[in-house]
Amino acid sequence: MEKLSCAAYETGRRFIGRLPYGKDLIKSVEVFCEEKNIKMATFSAIGAVSSVTMGAYDQKQQVYISFNKEAPLEIVNCTGNVSQKDGKPFLHAHIAIGDEQGKVTGGHLFSETIVFAGEVDIQEITGPSLERGYDETTGLMLWDPPDLKE
Ligand code: ZN
Repeated sequence: MEKLSCAAYETGRRFIGRLPYGKDLIKSVEVFCEEKNIKMATFSAIGAVSSVTMGAYDQKQQVYISFNKEAPLEIVNCTGNVSQKDGKPFLHAHIAIGDEQGKVTGGHLFSETIVFAGEVDIQEITGPSLERGYDETTGLMLWDPPDLKE
């Protein structure tokens, strides 16, 4: 793909709320989206976790490298989106985590990441379906260009 590929979306319902204590961050959001029939959304959260799993994509090997850290950590920022993967809501999020010294690390967010407390902002969007499919160039599950499907 040689140019930016995107389509116009309308904003739908906006959900503001609290993440559940002791539960997995990603699963909590995905289950909520399924229950509320949210197919696509933008997502952000702040709060704290008792354990985080995050990492980065090894672009040469085309595999995710992840690590887990069990510690009381602040969610400095967590931002992402919800789209469809295998017919279900899928949250793709990145997280910046801060420790007691204010040191921040970050990366691609994985399960399990256990919530201590958290506040979420889920903005539903409506428009052309955002479905993830395998991308041969990167080895990632990327969106099919919505502008080509219109
Ligand atoms: Zn990512």
